[in-house]
Amino acid sequence: MPQTDALGQSLRCLRGVGEARAEQLARLDLQTVEDLLAFYPRSYSDRTVIRPIAGTALFEECLVAGIVLTPPRVSRIRKGLELLKFRVGDGSGTLDVTYFNQSFLKSRFAEGTQVVLYGRVEGDLVRRAMANPECEFVDEAHYHGRFVPVYRLTSGLSQNRLRALAAEAVSRYAPLVEDPLPERLRAAHSLIPKSEAVRAIHLPESAAELEEARRRLVFEELLCLQLGLFSLKSRTREEVGISFDRNVDMQNFYDRLPFALTEGQRAAVEDAIADMRKPVPMNRLVQGDVGCGKTVVAAALIYYCVKNGCQAAMMAPTELLAAQHFESLAPLLEQCGIRSGILIGSLSAAKKRSICEQLASGEIGFAVGTQALIQESVAFERLGLVIADEQHRFGVAQRAKLSAKGENPHLLVMSATPIPRTLALMMYGDLDVSVIRTMPAGRQRIDTTVIPERRREKLYRFLRGQIGEGRQVYVVCPLIEEGESAEGGCGLHSAETVYEELSERIFPDLRVALAHGRMKPADKDAVMRDFAAGRYDILVSTTVIEVGINVPNATVMVIENAERFGLAQLHQLRGRVGRGSHRSYCVLVTEATGGKTAERLSMMVKTTDGFEIAEADLAQRGPGDFFGSAQHGLPRLRIADMAADSAVVAEVQAEARALLLRDPGLAGAPALAQAVQRLFSFDEGNFLN
Ligand code: ADP
Ligand code: MG
Repeated sequence: MPQTDALGQSLRCLRGVGEARAEQLARLDLQTVEDLLAFYPRSYSDRTVIRPIAGTALFEECLVAGIVLTPPRVSRIRKGLELLKFRVGDGSGTLDVTYFNQSFLKSRFAEGTQVVLYGRVEGDLVRRAMANPECEFVDEAHYHGRFVPVYRLTSGLSQNRLRALAAEAVSRYAPLVEDPLPERLRAAHSLIPKSEAVRAIHLPESAAELEEARRRLVFEELLCLQLGLFSLKSRTREEVGISFDRNVDMQNFYDRLPFALTEGQRAAVEDAIADMRKPVPMNRLVQGDVGCGKTVVAAALIYYCVKNGCQAAMMAPTELLAAQHFESLAPLLEQCGIRSGILIGSLSAAKKRSICEQLASGEIGFAVGTQALIQESVAFERLGLVIADEQHRFGVAQRAKLSAKGENPHLLVMSATPIPRTLALMMYGDLDVSVIRTMPAGRQRIDTTVIPERRREKLYRFLRGQIGEGRQVYVVCPLIEEGESAEGGCGLHSAETVYEELSERIFPDLRVALAHGRMKPADKDAVMRDFAAGRYDILVSTTVIEVGINVPNATVMVIENAERFGLAQLHQLRGRVGRGSHRSYCVLVTEATGGKTAERLSMMVKTTDGFEIAEADLAQRGPGDFFGSAQHGLPRLRIADMAADSAVVAEVQAEARALLLRDPGLAGAPALAQAVQRLFSFDEGNFLN
């Protein structure tokens, strides 16, 4: 079989993968052997250091070695629950081991058997215990220490099962993996072959080997990213743009606002206007904390653009946000004689057609919309300014597509996520940045508290009080359903179960709604819109509400398992309340009340400055989480970490530049060109040309 076919075949070729298993795997976006090989572990469990039993810490996962001291006993507690128990000792202490419903193992644990066990230590200071530990039947001297991969899971699929599948895929297929990096490049940067790296990332023999494998895969991923970004950017940068040279009386616009601009807002507007007067296209990022008022900056620039005889378009990541912008911007612009239109997927075909006609004829000066704006059928008469709101949610490609609808229109991206320098460099090269550091006057501070589980009843009473006064409440959970996390979701609150609990048991008399990312976008938007309209008291959700939603009547943000979120994300979530005149609260529920986590969460109580929080987040949590998800509009990275791997970024940038200079279409390295393409998953043509 040719190798590409072998890698492209369905995961059903693996032992024990039938229809049901294949469906579970598909939920993790794993369809083919190749997908599984590229499903890199999210962490590793270190099984290299054997600890004396007496020296283990309670509630920690530990590796111990010893011999079985007592004959194993099986007891039947009730129907469907059998316990297998025995004691293990290592000279330093003893450990009571229990297996549930695995009495068939009894004969293997005969008295005197040597075992190495890995599991969570329970019990108390006097007696140590482990339930269902992973076991190897070897003595300490023959134990081969390893790093065991930990994968992201989905319900029904256990860590052990996924490990076994990955191990099988690796042993059978990793040797067939082709190397997209040319030999010369590998030699120059001392990188191991890809097939070797894929094996070692799943089944590392040592810490050193894991590091080599990681470096190899990170290099390739960042190189592909940089090659793709360079190619995209070269389309717009050096070209001539539209220079706006009319003198526009901005005061005429400012006079219509119910408030005066803050200093930061005014500076951002002035920066952008100065850019747009030049004959090169503007490429500016306006960065400012949630609630600092970026929308009105956009409005001022739309006004300036339209008064210069051009059209402006604004792209929002969701229909709900697009609708919100339309509702706030259209009346304001209307007063200035500018017609606005909204273009979202859920409009009727007739409506869409009519809007498109008016955009093409120039009757509409400003259009706001979702991805619908970048569809083929949408044409502008004279597009002069493109604004991307909350740009981290957009693909770089989508932005480029919208820009391509005009002749090098000016580009403004607005984001509440502070982007660290390495990342900004990679994404934009010489992008200009305006930072809004000032908040509009009169903003009140949001009361933030951290509470443990046992104060939950009190929290519920508080929520009831707020709702009694007519306010609304958000409850955010880390998961959609039980069992999604690598650790099996034990003790984690899922949106579905919290929703059931609140709507059926705690607040059966109140109106509780559920929204999460696996719902159809239209259904989810409808729920959020109803919440915004006051038709629900409580909205239980995942972080889908993180971006942009504006419900001034909502005064309480409850975050379950707050320890699971990054500070920057908590800050974004908190920004959903405190938007009206009512006093607002953020309640972080967590059992982690000591150590690093507590310290991290106390940062939220101490400050409301988004930049300060972002910096603390990077410093405290370290890399990995901050850039974990699609926070920045780049393709999803499987392994590279923008903060931790910043040294590689520099190496890769030089290489990417040299490669493209020599061979702009990468004709000499087709496998590499293909890898770039795959990373960006462009649906059309070869964007490298
Ligand atoms: P964000 O930067 O998070 O997008 P918005 O643009 O949604 O923030 O603005 C948040 C709120 O602040 C809006 O209700 C807006 O009308 C208000 N606002 C914006 N600028 C000012 C200002 N200079 N003075 C008072 N309120 C303002
Ligand atoms: Mg906004």
